[in-house]
Amino acid sequence: EAKKVGAGEFRFFAQFMELKAQEIISLDYLLEKALKENLFVFYYQPYFKVEDLSLAGLEALVRIKVDGTVYNPSQFIDYLERSRFLPKFEEWMFEEISKKTERFRVPISVNISARSFNREDFIERFLSRFQHKEVRLEITERVFIENILYAKEILKRIKEKNIKVMIDDFGTGYCALSCLRFLPIDVIKIDMSFIKDIIKNKKDKDLVEVIVLLAQKLGIETLAEGVETQGQLDIIKQIGCTYVQGFLFDKPLPEEELLVKYPFIAGVAE
Ligand code: C2E
Ligand code: MG
Ligand code: MG
Ligand code: MG
Repeated sequence: EAKKVGAGEFRFFAQFMELKAQEIISLDYLLEKALKENLFVFYYQPYFKVEDLSLAGLEALVRIKVDGTVYNPSQFIDYLERSRFLPKFEEWMFEEISKKTERFRVPISVNISARSFNREDFIERFLSRFQHKEVRLEITERVFIENILYAKEILKRIKEKNIKVMIDDFGTGYCALSCLRFLPIDVIKIDMSFIKDIIKNKKDKDLVEVIVLLAQKLGIETLAEGVETQGQLDIIKQIGCTYVQGFLFDKPLPEEELLVKYPFIAGVAE
């Protein structure tokens, strides 16, 4: 019986993600191994205040590190979020982020999948674990598609615990305006596809300008994702985004490298 369900699950994933059976079997194997042998790690990508380029926070981005190979989320996260491994991964994330909030002096933002966000037990655990801690949630507009009333209720509870909410990849989803009107959001992360050609593409620049203006009117902060050049930064500055993040400053860094470059992040030594 269990095997049957497993096979069905496989076929569903295969169709959904257009993966070959072989790829699925190796993904499954990889995730099982990663959980068993504790091979998940977070890299941390800083973001900065545009005003003075001071460090404002860190985004935790997951990796799997196995025998010198580093797997990026694009290689496993979609599968992970739909697999039986999700609860164990969430548990690992809670543990790991808890430790880091004790250790780091700056806020840490974590990416939360729509799957997790839309489960009340996950949110309950998250809140009891992180209330009044310097943790921020990154969620995408996808989260709101399922049930915007539920999302509103949950976000209200998150706010009550003083946890900030960031909308990730903003502009690529479906409910941009109604989200802003309806939901208590702290920061909009403007998707990097809008930033990429901002120097030569007037339309993109206009769009970012309008998003920032709108956010300002609503008392929401903005972050420009994927800033790679000084030219892009100049425009972002001129437009008046609150924060900036991207390879111009840092790639996602392993903890050791992060602490070498920004030693003041570490609070108490381990
Ligand atoms: P995201 O949250 O939008 O993360 C930003 C991604 O863009 C990161 O890729 C980062 O390395 C990349 N990036 C940052 N700055 C630049 C830049 O200047 N140029 C370019 N070309 N890329 C840049 P990464 O780490 O591979 O993460 C990809 C996505 O995987 C994330 O997108 C997020 O949606 C998801 N993800 C990562 N970690 C987790 C996690 O712990 N849980 C969940 N549920 N999803 C995660
Ligand atoms: Mg993110
Ligand atoms: Mg993003
Ligand atoms: Mg993204």
